[in-house]
Amino acid sequence: MIQRDQLMEALQPLIDPQFQKSVVELNLVRDVMIKEEAVSLSVIVTSDDEGYKEKAKAFITDALGALGASQVHIRFRLITDLERGRIEQETGGNQHQHQHQHEHAAQPQQKPVQPPIDQPILGQESKVHFIAVASGKGGVGKSTVTVNLAVALARKGKKVGIIDADIYGFSIPDMMGIEEQPQLVDNVIMPVEKFGVKVISMGFFVQDNAPVVWRGPMLGKMLRNFFNEVKWGDVEYILLDLPPGTGDVALDVHQLIPQSKEVIVTTPHATASFVAARAGAMAIQTNHEILGIVENMSYYEAKDGTIDYVFGKGGGAKLAENLHTDLLAQIPLGAPDNHVSESDYSPSVYKADSKAGQLYLEVAEAVIQKLEK
Ligand code: ADP
Repeated sequence: MIQRDQLMEALQPLIDPQFQKSVVELNLVRDVMIKEEAVSLSVIVTSDDEGYKEKAKAFITDALGALGASQVHIRFRLITDLERGRIEQETGGNQHQHQHQHEHAAQPQQKPVQPPIDQPILGQESKVHFIAVASGKGGVGKSTVTVNLAVALARKGKKVGIIDADIYGFSIPDMMGIEEQPQLVDNVIMPVEKFGVKVISMGFFVQDNAPVVWRGPMLGKMLRNFFNEVKWGDVEYILLDLPPGTGDVALDVHQLIPQSKEVIVTTPHATASFVAARAGAMAIQTNHEILGIVENMSYYEAKDGTIDYVFGKGGGAKLAENLHTDLLAQIPLGAPDNHVSESDYSPSVYKADSKAGQLYLEVAEAVIQKLEK
């Protein structure tokens, strides 16, 4: 198998057009994942120049091909102002201004800097706790857990937001019974608030539920907008509903919010937890702390109190053990019973005094303890 050191060595000759230094030395090669002959990595670019990206892609593919990689997946991400500042400090300024124009290097685009909205929610100064909710596959209740954990944190007095980034189904608004659209005030998007949780969803911006072919860069852009152009106010916790699996969006989130912690959702079924372990492995590889596992659909409790382990037993505990983390809760099967009044109608939010509602409050308490200790 290719070693990380070998890979970095092979990419050494790739020069960033702005700083005129090796991308490896500038620490612009990120998220390297090597799995047998498949390699995936991200390159931070200092401009949007397609010519450079094409050249870089060809170079990296060749260089890693020479090391034996049969599949090379490369993502490009535009450098943030913060990262640019860091490099300028380290290298003593913008080298490009002192160099002749490189054949393919475009001038770094000076992007208009957005005025900060209330507080920087991204970046080192941010005090917001980010929790990405991940799962190995769809249908295990990841969105349900995101919604209920967010509501439970709000019930505990925290100021909470949700970013619905699950592009395979923007289900959060429906699950919470949200019918209105976010308003635009002075060019800033106001999230929709329900149960004390501020929600922003890609689904709000998709016309008539039209199927959209979302591609990596478009998604990344959308996510960035959610961070920078949404008025989050004095939010303390932001939960992200990630798409299932370990695809580009999950990686984008890892890059955008390196401080994000993670909660992994699985069912008790052995294969489900095996698949969920991949999401866990990705969190570990990208240095994201796993706060714990929520096992969902753990059992069915009949009216007479008998318990039926419909989907098997032990998956959550096993996953927690494998990932050296805690099993935060085992949530039973059962739909919320809250269709009483129109105002709090929501298909997926459990009442605070229900069994599941109580369990989610316990998860919220554990999360608060871990993050605010
Ligand atoms: P994912 O986000 O992993 O795809 P969802 O949260 O959308 O999963 O849940 C999938 C389906 O299972 C939804 O219809 C949801 O209402 C249902 N569901 C989730 N958790 C439970 C549970 N504990 N008991 C019963 N149904 C559940």
